[in-house]
Amino acid sequence: VHPNSCFSLEPGNLAGVRHIILVLSGKGGVGKSTISTELALALRHQGKKVGILDVDLCGPSIPHMLRAQGKAVHQCDNGWVPVFVDQEQSISLMSVGFLLENPDEAVVWRGPKKHGGLFLGFGVFAALIKQFVSDVAWGELDYLVVDTPPGTSDEHMATVEALRPHGPLGALVVTTPQAVSVGDVRRELTFCKKTGLKVIGVIENMSGFACPHCAECTNVFSSGGGEELAQLAGVPFLGSVPLDPQLTRSLEEGRDFIKEFPKSTAYSALT
Ligand code: ADP
Repeated sequence: VHPNSCFSLEPGNLAGVRHIILVLSGKGGVGKSTISTELALALRHQGKKVGILDVDLCGPSIPHMLRAQGKAVHQCDNGWVPVFVDQEQSISLMSVGFLLENPDEAVVWRGPKKHGGLFLGFGVFAALIKQFVSDVAWGELDYLVVDTPPGTSDEHMATVEALRPHGPLGALVVTTPQAVSVGDVRRELTFCKKTGLKVIGVIENMSGFACPHCAECTNVFSSGGGEELAQLAGVPFLGSVPLDPQLTRSLEEGRDFIKEFPKSTAYSALT
């Protein structure tokens, strides 16, 4: 069976999805897509079936991180067929990146929203997220990991509203130590509280750099902020992921970090 064939797929909706995890961050560049990708890979290695929905309009980077760039989403009788990123078909991916002819187009999409046409930008997003929920043939999944756009904007609201009716929904909030200090994550946690979205926990990413030569860990920014904030907000702190050059390289090359680099510094934090 061709990996992207319609064969054996259930009708397109989220009925067969057991858990939905939204990955949120207060701002871009803190490692939200990285955590989404590695979470999916770690769950896959535990024998789970995982779907990834990448609705980060500002930078749909997951196809690149999973070496699925340039693959096409097909239409079949049951709806859109997500792209399977592995031979075993245990990770399926739907990304706005697959719908853009040119990877740079994402930046153009953001334009109208930033420069006045707020309604236009948001309307497009809301329609898109609804369509991803209703028209994608996800089939049976243990987890659907959703990589959201950064911030606490209308896009988050639309995402929560579109997904909430479809089962247990929880949020993983990703921060870096310095993002904590400017209050981005605080706003993110307030958003979760206001919308009644369950917070699974806070992850602090880029927490220190473990030198591959002498194994000394240097706190490049600051440390402990994520944990402090989680405590203040009364939500679980799930751990810190160090800066790891091998992880950066794996993501750039679309490799399976969890499988290939078990001795790497970020490995134990991510598994
Ligand atoms: P976001 O989705 O929040 O915009 P990304 O996941 O795209 O951020 O990460 C931004 C960049 O930082 C990427 O190039 C990624 O490879 C790198 N990166 C993220 N987390 C780590 C880490 N713990 N160690 C090394 N590089 C990382």
